[in-house]
Amino acid sequence: MDCLFCKIFQGQIPSKKVYEDENVFAFEDIHPLAKTHILFIHKKHTTNVNGLSTIHVGQVFTAIKNWTSGQKIEKEGFRVVTNTGPDAGQTVFHAHFHVLGGEKLGGFGK
Ligand code: AMP
Ligand code: ZN
Repeated sequence: MDCLFCKIFQGQIPSKKVYEDENVFAFEDIHPLAKTHILFIHKKHTTNVNGLSTIHVGQVFTAIKNWTSGQKIEKEGFRVVTNTGPDAGQTVFHAHFHVLGGEKLGGFGK
């Protein structure tokens, strides 16, 4: 499968891993948009969030909870974003969830 994020979680392309469990992998975004910018992906390849089952989405959000729980980022706050399709500017077509924080975030969208 010629997919950048599949290659990343399989270790074929290097990344700065911050979290991994049986189903989910998380790593630093290469072009951070906030002091903390992590990408959480499910290991099941699917183009965007609509291809993930509710169980898969729950596993991703459980991983985000596991990674943030009890940490400074949980206390100070963070944002989860998933871009889907051209209007949202999606550039990598393996479903992923941006976790942004580590500083006061501005507004988003129009
Ligand atoms: P999106 O625009 O929502 O599809 O987000 C894709 C994200 O993947 C962007 O924020 C990129 O900076 C990030 N990205 C692209 N290639 C890599 C890579 N090799 N390692 C880490 N993050 C990447
Ligand atoms: Zn993939």
